[in-house]
Amino acid sequence: MDLGIKGKKAIVCASSKGLGKGCALSLAREGVDVTICARTEETLDAAADEIRAQGGVGGGGAVTAVACDITTGDGQKAVLAACPEPDILINNAGGPPPGDFRDWDRETWIAALDANMLTAIFLIKASVDGMIERQFGRIVNITSSAVKAPIEILGLSNGARSGLTGFVAGLARKTVAANVTINNILPGPFDTGRMHANIKVNADKAGVPVEEMTKRKAAANPAGRFGDPSEFGELCAYLCSAQAGYITGQNLLIDGGGYPGTF
Ligand code: NAP
Repeated sequence: MDLGIKGKKAIVCASSKGLGKGCALSLAREGVDVTICARTEETLDAAADEIRAQGGVGGGGAVTAVACDITTGDGQKAVLAACPEPDILINNAGGPPPGDFRDWDRETWIAALDANMLTAIFLIKASVDGMIERQFGRIVNITSSAVKAPIEILGLSNGARSGLTGFVAGLARKTVAANVTINNILPGPFDTGRMHANIKVNADKAGVPVEEMTKRKAAANPAGRFGDPSEFGELCAYLCSAQAGYITGQNLLIDGGGYPGTF
């Protein structure tokens, strides 16, 4: 299926690894020019090379890499300078640390809100009016299954991402008439560095070897495995497609059936 977005310009935040890289790869394969970012230059450059090598079937799919911390004003400015008129915006940042809410002070909460709520809102603010003027825009926020079913050790994530979700729910109904959609994708367990770091915390807490905890976690999912970032990227690319203009304000779980509810 041709997604009809060849030649469009995308900002994909926090994308040298994991889910962000999965999204950048899928978009570049559709011929979208992607601006990627991450804090660590070496892995960012390696990701840019990988995306260049795999993307852009039949032209397009140029890759610009911006080394920055996307949760800072300077980082957001640098990415927007590299891609001032994005047609597609994928919001993402590292997840907050796990822990007990009794240990978190104001500074910890503000950092989580900056990373997982306010950065996305400021990037939306900077790009949505141009999208409305050009009558095409696709915004996808990478949130978490924790928005639908809270994860005990990730209270910072449960809270900050729910704030973003509430904000987006209102705005997404205001922009869709101009063919600008805003949706959230809620990942369950995906095979990324972030997930393995969380498994280690749970393993240490339970006094179980990491390998054993990894096996248990995969087996606990109805699919019997973790998701692959490429599966996530393909869903993201579809939401960014020309065909997806009637999908907005949605929270799409991609979790192998991990969420047990009917809806
Ligand atoms: P990951 O594999 O650890 O990759 C994170 C990527 O983001 C890396 O490229 C990292 O590069 C970059 N990054 C982190 N902080 C950044 C910042 N401040 N500025 C710019 N780039 C930054 O993580 P992931 O699993 O893909 O997770 C992506 C998001 O989905 C996270 O918010 C995570 O909490 C959420 N999530 C993941 C899962 C899962 O199972 N994987 C499930 C639910 C939710 P640098 O470190 O070099 O900056």
